[in-house]
This record gives sequence, structure tokens and C-alpha cells, in this order.
Amino acid sequence: CADMAMFDAKERGRDNCVIYSPEMERQVSTQLIIQNDLRDAIDKRQLEIYYQPIVDEYGVLAGAEALLRWRHPMFGFISPAEFIPVAERSGLIDNLTRWLIKDVCEFLVINADKQLPKISLNISARQFNDVDFVERLLSEIKGRQLVASAFELELTEHLFLTDISLVKTRFNELRQAGFSIAIDDFGTGYSSLSYLQHLPLSRLKIDASFVRNIGENDRGNAIVNAIIEMGHALKLDVVAEGVETPAQHAYLKAHGCDWFQGYLWSKPLPAAEFARLLPRAGEVRQLRSTAEPVHY
Ligand code: C2E
Ligand code: MG
Ligand code: MG
Ligand code: MG
Repeated sequence: CADMAMFDAKERGRDNCVIYSPEMERQVSTQLIIQNDLRDAIDKRQLEIYYQPIVDEYGVLAGAEALLRWRHPMFGFISPAEFIPVAERSGLIDNLTRWLIKDVCEFLVINADKQLPKISLNISARQFNDVDFVERLLSEIKGRQLVASAFELELTEHLFLTDISLVKTRFNELRQAGFSIAIDDFGTGYSSLSYLQHLPLSRLKIDASFVRNIGENDRGNAIVNAIIEMGHALKLDVVAEGVETPAQHAYLKAHGCDWFQGYLWSKPLPAAEFARLLPRAGEVRQLRSTAEPVHY
């Protein structure tokens, strides 16, 4: 049972010693269960893709983020925040992402008679660094007569802890192919900001933790303002995630934030439900914001 603990210790550096605790034991066994069961989750059809709308300042549907959901037969719903890190460490993320891309593409094909908003896909560093990644992505897309500009790839700053010149080549490849690229969870990644000068990005996504601090204190507000201003100075659009209250929305809007995502408009929706939101040609879909914050 010390397998995962040793793995963690190795990750932290060989000379680090890990002291064993009951809490760790619990975490280790959860991780092992997740890792084992996730292997078959696709085949057993336990995974599903939800879509969360991204809207403009008027609530007009402008995009959607694809988010994985796992219904475990015994443990019920397991959050991606819990299983994605395990999938990344074990390599299962490769299959998972491949399946996700196929499923999202199929969704777009099925709904081709409607206006399709840009779909954002979360791509972990491991995929991104895979030499075949861009080629495989493009073959899935082109094989279905879809175009790369229908997609945005969300990457986190973890990526920039490694060799930036390699990352730059890959970014250029993706941009040339027509994909948009966003930095997800912006401001939480411990990486230097220097990558912002060198990479062909389209958007920054302000992390929900900053959005949550709006109105809490001056410093919280200042960070949000600074991110929006810096984004705009770099000619990037700024998306706020985790917007839950009208006050947060009002503040972000007043400070020039371009796009919004959060429970205030919609939680992530099952594909069929999201498809019903898609406007027909000539229609515009405006989402009403809920006056009350929603809790799940
Ligand atoms: P993320 O990419 O930052 O996604 C945003 C998360 O915020 C989602 O959590 C979403 O459901 C949640 N969220 C949206 N609006 C609100 C709100 O108003 N309030 C609050 N409290 N939360 C809100 P979710 O779906 O649990 O996903 C968690 C993370 O798991 C994602 O964070 C992403 O990093 C990862 N993830 C999800 N699907 C995938 C995937 O297909 N591939 C990869 N590599 N990662 C994924
Ligand atoms: Mg994301
Ligand atoms: Mg995020
Ligand atoms: Mg995240």
C-alpha cells in the first residue's frame, strides 16, 4: 500500500522522506481505487461530457467548456478534480482525452444544423507534450469535416515549468492549425509571467479563486483588475470563471472583463440539455442570470 506514497516521495525528490499517516493511507487507497476503476470507465460507459456555457456581457451564448463527469457504480459521482490528477499520473489521461475529443466532435456533428459555439477543451501537460498530439487532434477533426477554429484548448501554467522553447514550437503549430489557446486557472500556477510575451495566446481565464474574492477586500479586487488590464494590454481576451453572484458579474463587467462562465448563468449541462440551448441559424441565445447564487 506504500506504492503511491513512494511515488509521491519520488516526485518530491529522492532524498525526501515521507512520514506515513492515516490520512495518507486513506488518500492512497482512494487513488488506487480511482486508478483501477478508471481504466474500464470508458468501456463501461461511466464517463460523460458536460458542457458549461460561456457568455458575453449580455448573457449571449458564445462558447462552452467541455468537462468530464464520472459516475462510479459504487461511489457515485467522482469529481474530475479528484480523478484527473490520478489519470495524469498513471497515463490514463491519454485514453481519456482521446475519448473526450471523439465524443465532443461527434456532438458537434450531430448538432451541425444549429449554430455551434466555440468549444473549450482542457488539455493536460502530458497530452500537450505528446509528439502525436496535434496530428491526432487534427485527424479527428478533419475526419468529420470540422475545423480547428471551432475549438479552444485550455492549458494551465504548469506547462511553463518545463522547457519554454519546446512549448513555443507546439503553440505555434496549434495556432497555425487554427486552434485558439487559453490559459486556464490563470494566476495560480507558480510560473513566471515571461511566457506571456512569447506565446500566441487568445485568452486568459481568471481563476475562480480570484473571482470569489471580489468584494471581499481591496486586494482581491486589485488582483482581478490587474489580470484584466494585463490581458488587454497583451491584446488577449479575458474570461472570468466561477462567477456566481450578480455583484461579481457587475464588478467584472465594469472592469472590462470580456467573457463569463459560472453558475450565475448555468452549471455544466449534460450534452442533450446543452444541445437544446443551441440557437438555430439567425437566432441568438441569451441566458438569463439567476439572481440567487446556486449551490451544488
Ligand atoms: P477547470 O478547467 O478550471 O474548470 C472549471 C471548473 O469550475 C469546473 O469544475 C466547473 O464545473 C467549475 N465551475 C464552473 N462554474 C462554477 C461556479 O460558478 N462556481 C463554482 N464553485 N464552480 C464552478 P469541474 O467540472 O469539477 O472540473 C474541475 C477541473 O477538472 C477542471 O477545472 C479541469 O482542470 C479538470 N478537468 C475537467 N474535465 C477535464 C478534461 O476533460 N481534461 C482535463 N485534462 N482536465 C479536466
Ligand atoms: Mg478549464
Ligand atoms: Mg479553470
Ligand atoms: Mg482547474
